[in-house]
Amino acid sequence: MFQNLQDKLDRAFKVLKGQGNITEINVAETMKEIRKALLDADVNYKTAKTFTDEVKQKALGQNVLTSISPGQLLTKIMNDELTDLMGGTVNDLDISQNPTVILIAGLNGAGKTTFSGKLANYLRDKKGKKPLLVAGDVYRPAAVDQLQVLGEQVSVPVYVNRESNDPIAIAKEGVAEAKRNGNNIVIIDTAGRLAIDEALMTEITAVKEATQPHEILFVVDAMTGQDAVNTAKTFNDRLDFTGVVLTKLDGDTRGGAALSIKSVVNKPIKFIGTGEKMEALDVFHPDRMASRILGMGDVVSLVERAQQQFDEKEAAELQKKIRKNKFDFNDFKSQIQQIKKMGNMKDLMGMIPGVGKAIKDVEIEDDAFKPIEAIIDSMTPFERENPDAIDTKRRTRIAKGSGTDVNEVNKLMKQFADMRKVMKQMSNPAMAAKMMRNMP
Ligand code: GDP
Repeated sequence: MFQNLQDKLDRAFKVLKGQGNITEINVAETMKEIRKALLDADVNYKTAKTFTDEVKQKALGQNVLTSISPGQLLTKIMNDELTDLMGGTVNDLDISQNPTVILIAGLNGAGKTTFSGKLANYLRDKKGKKPLLVAGDVYRPAAVDQLQVLGEQVSVPVYVNRESNDPIAIAKEGVAEAKRNGNNIVIIDTAGRLAIDEALMTEITAVKEATQPHEILFVVDAMTGQDAVNTAKTFNDRLDFTGVVLTKLDGDTRGGAALSIKSVVNKPIKFIGTGEKMEALDVFHPDRMASRILGMGDVVSLVERAQQQFDEKEAAELQKKIRKNKFDFNDFKSQIQQIKKMGNMKDLMGMIPGVGKAIKDVEIEDDAFKPIEAIIDSMTPFERENPDAIDTKRRTRIAKGSGTDVNEVNKLMKQFADMRKVMKQMSNPAMAAKMMRNMP
């Protein structure tokens, strides 16, 4: 995501590279480039102008320290300003009421139904809540089915009334049902339209009045750029929503919407959708998004996602095995499975500083692990536990069994051996620190 913007900013910073000082002239030139890059990324004109003016002001007031380049200093200033622009700090959902009613609004195709499922999953899994989903999209019959499927997938009940086509009544029934069943969260998925129209606005306003939601989340497709900002403005004027959900930030998004929405409607972005899977939901962190835009990677998000998937006890066991050089193919396979659960591979790799750019044009298939898994599956339990015992004869058999060839098996064996070596080194804190220092 944001690749285009990153490339352009890189180019803008080049103007400053090799220059010893930030002067009125070189900063003006860089800011012009940055403003262009922001506009190209679909950032609203006024937002881009205010932003660059502010960065320039701050940059000129700074003494350039000898230890950092003007480019680095400007990156830091931009990082802080971008963070501010996107809301500064994390804005949590208010889920303190019992039941807390959350209304989901937006245009058709924005990702409302998908997000409703993801949110239910998140609140149940991470916040220990007991949510109820309410199927309020009565105009699109498939939407009700879709929500039921998602509810089943995330083990959250769904309130459906196929007899009725009155979204207001259904929403009210849903809240009553939640009270009866002791659900402390009610997530109401509403109907959208292809475009904003009066009927939609009247209806969603009526649903709001009838259910008195504590949170109204406006879901918008980040890929629609400036349109997203305009739609947000119209919805906000009528609904006064409490937060924004930006979906499809996993695609080739230009990213302008994330930067402009907060400053245009003055409502915080609360969540971002990064894929079609139910786990592909992140709480929005302005600071992390800023560093992602600037190409500094998003190590914290990456680490957090990893932490969500990894069991502490398991990790400790694994550490022990690594130190003793006992890491085997069973461990390797379970690592692969955990990584797969974390989401889209390319997206994950993009979060590592410096990697985003490198893999921009590389096709990374989500099933890149398939041949590796096939090879491991063809090993006997003895072989999985004793990688060193896998000789040429065994390799030939494994290749046959997995439908690959010996070269591929050899390659995996070599990678595995290398990985084991690095892991062993990393498990020694002194060595790990040394390796980190040597990273680019
Ligand atoms: P609704 O009409 O607003 O309820 O939209 P849906 O929830 O049906 O979503 C429309 C399409 O967008 C579906 O194909 C979803 O799988 C897809 N979608 C939703 N959120 C995301 C996301 O964060 N990333 C990607 N790549 N696709 C998404």
